[in-house]
Amino acid sequence: MKKVMILEDEENIRSFVVINLRRAGYEAIEAATGQQALDRLRENPDIGVAILDIMLPDMDGFEVCRRIRVSNKQVGIIMLTARTQEMDKITGLMTGADDYVTKPFSPAELTARIDALYRRLGGDAAGESELLTQGPFVMNTRNHTLEKNGLRVRLTQVEYAIMKLFMQNPGRALAREDILSAVWGRDYEGDLKIVDVNIRRLRIKIEDDTANPAYITTVWGFGYKWGA
Ligand code: CA
Repeated sequence: MKKVMILEDEENIRSFVVINLRRAGYEAIEAATGQQALDRLRENPDIGVAILDIMLPDMDGFEVCRRIRVSNKQVGIIMLTARTQEMDKITGLMTGADDYVTKPFSPAELTARIDALYRRLGGDAAGESELLTQGPFVMNTRNHTLEKNGLRVRLTQVEYAIMKLFMQNPGRALAREDILSAVWGRDYEGDLKIVDVNIRRLRIKIEDDTANPAYITTVWGFGYKWGA
């Protein structure tokens, strides 16, 4: 059974999520503190998606996310944010998360996001092996790896999916809506900011000068274009 971890210290919200995860066919693993979440992930390496609340008693959810990503690039991470939290601040802090859901959220919304992350974890069709080489970049679509100048660039699943889309469409301006539906799925109902959040992070990882991106350029009012 697919495992999803919910980290939330407020018991009523946690139970609400657990009930809905089970209803949607997931096995739910619970954590009430950041430390518990890190322990549960170590004990259950097959957790596919982790849902992290931000306000916690021992450390904030961004710190939990950062610590998870030190050793685990594979797990999908969804942050639970409150409407009162400033979005700009959130996006700046979302250093390793794949997605976010704003409280209060509907069970359907949350499970749709989890389903979308799980679909991506499934990856490419078996047997597909392709090297995409452009400029200093080499992508291996079987191993899901990216190298720049022969050095491995560590990407989250979402970042990898965006890079693959770019490298399959060199020189083509891609609308943010197209990136969203290609990477997150057509039935994804989140907003376009998540695309910008991930692009910002990708630039930090792959650009020589993040202030003057040479590979991922912004097409104002439209989206992004890849060239290498
Ligand atoms: Ca909380």
